Amino acid sequence: MTNYDYDLVTIGAGSGGVRATRIAALAGARAAVVEEYRTGGTCVIRGCVPKKLMVYASRFSEDFADSAGFGWHVPHATFDWATLIANKDREIARLEGLYKKNLASAGATLFEDRAVMRDPHTVHLLKSDKTITAKHVLIATGGRAFVPEDVEGGDLAITSNEAFHLPHLPKSVMVVGGGYIAIEFAGIFKGLGSRTLLVHHGEEILRGFDHEIRERMRHELQKRGIDVHLKSVVASIRAEAGRKRVRLKDGTEHVVDEVMFAVGRRPNTGALGLEHCGVELTERRAVKVDAYSRSSQPHIYAVGDVTDRVNLTPVAIREGHAFADTVFNGRPTAVDHADIPTAVFGTPEIGVVGLSEEQARAQVGQVDIYKTAFRPMRATMSGRDTLIFMKLVVDAVSERVLGCHVMGEAAAEMIQCVAIAVKMKATKRDFDATVALHPSAAEELVLLKTKS
Ligand code: NDP
Repeated sequence: MTNYDYDLVTIGAGSGGVRATRIAALAGARAAVVEEYRTGGTCVIRGCVPKKLMVYASRFSEDFADSAGFGWHVPHATFDWATLIANKDREIARLEGLYKKNLASAGATLFEDRAVMRDPHTVHLLKSDKTITAKHVLIATGGRAFVPEDVEGGDLAITSNEAFHLPHLPKSVMVVGGGYIAIEFAGIFKGLGSRTLLVHHGEEILRGFDHEIRERMRHELQKRGIDVHLKSVVASIRAEAGRKRVRLKDGTEHVVDEVMFAVGRRPNTGALGLEHCGVELTERRAVKVDAYSRSSQPHIYAVGDVTDRVNLTPVAIREGHAFADTVFNGRPTAVDHADIPTAVFGTPEIGVVGLSEEQARAQVGQVDIYKTAFRPMRATMSGRDTLIFMKLVVDAVSERVLGCHVMGEAAAEMIQCVAIAVKMKATKRDFDATVALHPSAAEELVLLKTKS
């Protein structure tokens, strides 16, 4: 039998990789993880966590404005970007430390290095020029942001990576894209005081979401002063007196301080040496895996965004844990990817679980729709022009709630709880049998009576 240095070498210490490595180590495996940047991965270091902290920061401007209707007088509020970034960085460093500590206390080894596969069982650590061998390898390298190659002057643009570390809050910013990151950062910049343009190539933002959520969200962004340009594509960017002149393909030009692209993320499989290992990739260059996250090379697995399944942190964590249970705990576990709740932390917020109306009609045919749009109680006093929107998509035959869509304050918090009911296959009657909690916005979810 071959003796390997490790039972498991994981490449990438993000959410999925760290969970898998820790569980494997706790099961008694000799486990190591290799990370070239910072421990914690995209979510902790330059994604979900810092983003949410910045979303909190951005929403104070609305709070200050809304407080007037409740009798508060807030003298001209000022915002200091440097304080926000320093405090955010301190929190991220604390979390990174916890991740390292948890790996160490599980008995796993962390190599802060760049890993390249030399052959199916050999990993070369570039910085230290060291080679380690592994019985199993887990690819957990995530995804990476990019600026499309066909944009002339694209090197003048930033992605979310740089947005977390800008030296100043830009006075004006163009955010390109219409997905999670674009909507979230447009809300952050606008809330913090930047003039914000959202430039999206599609006919509507948030493809894949329920059509009413897409349209209503765009209206809400516009009400908040975000300048939304649909069916618009960036042709070129030129530097101009410290600013950027952006020409769109329709010929219009805009001068802004920053241009941020948020047009999806690509699976991080480049220069990993996977070609030496018989690991098959998909057309989008993601690692092709089965339900147990096993690649075409039986001892090499992959979890998280590098597999391009459902690109969300909690899913990567589930997949990493399931992999470790399958390989090191003798419990073969496939991850169930149905009914995963998700939120877009824009302002307002969107929370979704299950199917959109369009998906439900395509999948089950007969569907009942229950929905409401109403002014939140807080807005009756603040005077803010905004609506909360809620929609239940119900199977007309079984009465099962197939989808729940909320746009408005605390939508993410609501959807996490509704997701339990949806996962348990609750019916519309179960929702109706639940007594409302008054006064709340969420109570409307159990008070929807009329089919639309
Ligand atoms: P998304 O896939 O959400 O959105 C990408 C956007 O860019 C879409 O609107 C897409 O339009 C548009 N787009 C694609 N290609 C181009 C192009 N060449 N030029 C212009 N526009 C283009 O990706 P994000 O980058 O927003 O986020 C990456 C991933 O991170 C997502 O998969 C998401 O799951 C995850 N994420 C999750 C968050 C959360 O849970 N809250 C937060 C942030 C990220 P169209 O689809 O119409 O073609």
